Amino acid sequence: MHPGLLHRRFVTDLSSSLFSFVLPLLPTQEERAVKEEVRSLIEKLVKTIEPSARLLSFGSSQNSFGLRNSDMDLVVLIDDPSANLEASHLVQMIGDLLQRETNFDVKPLPKARIPILKLTLAPSSALPFGIACDIGIENRLAIENTRLLLTYATIDPARVRTLVLFLKVWAKRRRINSPYRGTLSSYGFTLMVLYYLVHVKQPPVLPNLQRIAPLRPLAEHEVMIQGRNVYFFDDTETLRQEWSSINFETVGELLIDFFRYFSHDFQFNNSVMSLRAGQLTKEIKGWVNDIDVGGLNEMARDRNRLCIEDPFEISYNVARTVTKDGLYTLRGEFMRATRILTQRPDRAVIALAELCR
Ligand code: ATP
Ligand code: MG
Repeated sequence: MHPGLLHRRFVTDLSSSLFSFVLPLLPTQEERAVKEEVRSLIEKLVKTIEPSARLLSFGSSQNSFGLRNSDMDLVVLIDDPSANLEASHLVQMIGDLLQRETNFDVKPLPKARIPILKLTLAPSSALPFGIACDIGIENRLAIENTRLLLTYATIDPARVRTLVLFLKVWAKRRRINSPYRGTLSSYGFTLMVLYYLVHVKQPPVLPNLQRIAPLRPLAEHEVMIQGRNVYFFDDTETLRQEWSSINFETVGELLIDFFRYFSHDFQFNNSVMSLRAGQLTKEIKGWVNDIDVGGLNEMARDRNRLCIEDPFEISYNVARTVTKDGLYTLRGEFMRATRILTQRPDRAVIALAELCR
């Protein structure tokens, strides 16, 4: 068969293989129910300390990019402004309470830069992977960025969810999803995919929700939470009626091109990915590497190797955990993936298995 034809058949095969690859990795209804029970139980207990407190889920259990057995991200919000509780104090109090009242293994980190409480539940027959849960305090931006990600997913779930979910599995299996070990968080990978679909792909697969404003007066472009503008267009019904992509590439094509783009085209040395504003330079952001500055330790030097602007906390580099070695590894993985998907166009399922080995 002609190589071009062979490749076309591979790409079609790849799209359907991606759907079947991701499907069994989604959380079950049962898992969702257990996690909701846990949230509700902890919320009840927290309310005994502060009646105006609410406990909300955020992260992958809410943004539609959740995988089976992923950890729970929870945040305590206190609606009564007169409550006047300090985060570190609250973390300690909730920690003590949960230790007394539940079977969780409780680890409060009240002195961390962002105080959190870590909970774990050992595996059991009902929950073969146990539960791992982080509880933060008053992080309202996390709720908003979770909603932003969910809204992007809702616009084109078949392509957006499949791509993000696959890349998350790939990153976990290839061990490049460890912010504590110099690589990138799931949140970072998700922002990379969205950046690619909004700003790199022409025509774009997704609109820029922080910049479009059909039917909205300009004044509504500013919604301030914790000092940040968290406005984005979240009316999915209107979006469905008024916006449709004229990019019809399949998910398989998009995946191959995503890997190719980050192997060959993206300028890691001087570019910043901004979902809000497109490609920016490190110079404009003031995110140049601190290599020449004396007296800084290795971590400080490595802070801006890979640059991904947070959609709302725009002075924050989501990829600041990525070290020099981490970036080298990441780029090597993008190249390996490109090689596997372009040089061996045999059966797609085999290529995917090889990719995630
Ligand atoms: P996973 O399924 O792997 O747990 P996740 O979507 O929950 O993936 P995480 O990296 O665990 O992603 O992040 C959870 C949430 O925490 C994100 O949705 C975001 O709101 C917030 N978050 C995580 N990392 C950062 C970061 N570096 N900067 C700002 N917010 C972050
Ligand atoms: Mg998570």
